[in-house]
Amino acid sequence: MTNLRDLTLKEMENFVQEMGEPKFRAKQVFGWIYKGKTDFREMTNLPEVFRNKLKEKAYIGTVEPLKIQKSKTDGTRKYLYRLEDGNLIESVFMKYKYGNSICVSSQAGCRMGCRFCASTRNGLERNLTPGEIVSQLMAAEADTGERIGHIVVMGTGEPFDNYENLSRFLNIVNDSNGLNIGMRNITVSTCGLVPVIEKFGDEFPQVNLAISLHGTTDKIRGSMMPVNNKYPLGVLIPACREYTQKTGRRITFEYTMVNGVNDSDEDAVRLSKLLKGMLCHVNIIPLNKVAESGFDTVSRKRAEVFAKLLEIHGIVVTVRRELGADIDAACGQLRLGRQ
Ligand code: SAH
Repeated sequence: MTNLRDLTLKEMENFVQEMGEPKFRAKQVFGWIYKGKTDFREMTNLPEVFRNKLKEKAYIGTVEPLKIQKSKTDGTRKYLYRLEDGNLIESVFMKYKYGNSICVSSQAGCRMGCRFCASTRNGLERNLTPGEIVSQLMAAEADTGERIGHIVVMGTGEPFDNYENLSRFLNIVNDSNGLNIGMRNITVSTCGLVPVIEKFGDEFPQVNLAISLHGTTDKIRGSMMPVNNKYPLGVLIPACREYTQKTGRRITFEYTMVNGVNDSDEDAVRLSKLLKGMLCHVNIIPLNKVAESGFDTVSRKRAEVFAKLLEIHGIVVTVRRELGADIDAACGQLRLGRQ
């Protein structure tokens, strides 16, 4: 059985043609799916014979919300979803002035091992399929009754460690016959898998790229992020410069501030030197507490002083407004579960 939410429109066209149906049927089915229909009987402009054939070969996979937590302060909702095989993943719905956004997970678990992040505690269970990523959005739209116009791929998992499915997901949500979410309304965040950065720049130059930096020397970054041993700063930063030059797009560098590790004035100065002249901006995130990590956060005040220092040195910087902290929905707090 094929989960039709796993298919891009092109793939769906091949699928219906293999069934001996005309290609345009795919567009009709695709349209219904992203209007939220999960039952072929509701696809009223399809011939009954075709609907019956579809039912034999395919289904529209969903993710089941097991738990929905609503923030008391800011309209954020955290979803715990159950996948078909029992794996549990989380997503976060956020309200911004410019519209609604969803933070989706790209893997069940994660194997990158960042020491401050809860998502990687139990390692990687498996990659999510394109349908499982898009279904996180569909279920949140159904629950809130609101349209979601922005996506950040910043939930559990390393999206560049699941690149094939990520790219199919991007094509699915961008398709004008379905959700029609502009590539520029999507942001993908990576811990820095260098070879994929180049590929991503070639294939999705319109999608926003965020890089988790968090350290200004290999020693500091490596102490928090094992990926730095494979792709140290001397490799990562030139790849980022090349990306901005080739695409003309600004990179967002995420910088999670950890007390006593990467939060000194010298760190700010080194950071500004590292990024000097690059088309980029820095997004400071005061560390969110993860019980087992042993790392300590910094005050909002310290984050702002650090940001000011960067600004003085010519770097464009913002301090991330944390949404959903009261429901453990903030960065690095999403976890893998099983049921
Ligand atoms: N694997 C991707 C996607 C995760 S995005 C990546 O690494 O970019 C989530 C962002 O939150 C990343 O920048 C991550 O480093 C950061 N993060 C993880 N744990 C955090 C924590 N406890 N506090 C603040 N930020 C955290």
